[in-house]
Amino acid sequence: MLILTDPQELSAKCREWRMEGKSLALVPTMGFYHKGHESLMEYGRKHADKLIVSLFVNPAQFGPNEDLEAYPRDFERDRAVAEAKGADILFCPDSSSMYDKDHKTWVEAPEMAAGLCGASRPVHFRGVCTVVLKLFLLTGADIAVFGQKDWQQQAIIKRMARDLNVPVQVVSLPAVREEDGLALSSRNVYLTEDERRRASHIRKGLLLAAKLAAQSAPAAEIVKSVKEYWRSAMPDAVIDYISLVDPDTLEPKERIDGACLLACAVRLGKARLIDNILISAGGDSGSA
Ligand code: AMP
Repeated sequence: MLILTDPQELSAKCREWRMEGKSLALVPTMGFYHKGHESLMEYGRKHADKLIVSLFVNPAQFGPNEDLEAYPRDFERDRAVAEAKGADILFCPDSSSMYDKDHKTWVEAPEMAAGLCGASRPVHFRGVCTVVLKLFLLTGADIAVFGQKDWQQQAIIKRMARDLNVPVQVVSLPAVREEDGLALSSRNVYLTEDERRRASHIRKGLLLAAKLAAQSAPAAEIVKSVKEYWRSAMPDAVIDYISLVDPDTLEPKERIDGACLLACAVRLGKARLIDNILISAGGDSGSA
């Protein structure tokens, strides 16, 4: 596995492989790997000749009062995981090589970035879109693999790739979870033992929503029931949002017609945890 830090070297190596007719898979990450990241790498490994994993804690997607400095890091362990998963390149640039001092050009995220996480993280998706487009351009990847835990992110990236005619196939894979349902996240390390135990109620609340939807309960009642469940099971949690939206456009939905995405962000102690589930009326609920 090559470890590259220079964007131009990444670009040159990828160009060389593309000229040899090799297909390329890209898995963008911020590191501190868990089984969720591993599942994306496994997919990339299986579906392309070359696997490029990027590891970059992208400052542009953090707001001024967010956890950029505190974000967990463990380069040696991540390097070993990426290698074990068969990555051909681990690309780990520093911020100054990705953003010149006078960097001025940003990808304006589509409107679907305004709601859900975008409401409390106004610059987040602009930063995500900008760095992901850079990675698409540097690698010329044929496929790029993202996780559905960050549903809004993968939906925005799919839209960006389509709107800007980026010749990449954006794939998204289901969230990998702990046994009790908590979605794996690098940020779960912020939880105390006690908070960690209670965090499983996030998923349980969403599963309750899927059950109520299957019984054809109205959307407003479903959201109310989930909030009530969370308030009693995790009294110290702060619900940032819980919203029912169209899974592709992320437009708010008043009624459950077809598959709808119920997405949430909940603050427990220092951690802000996000999750989501696909629900539909009268059964047939998929989970993300
Ligand atoms: P991150 O390093 O947190 O920025 O995540 C890198 C990629 O891994 C993103 O596409 C995430 O959606 C994905 N990811 C994060 N957590 C999970 C999970 N529990 N299951 C599957 N994919 C995930």
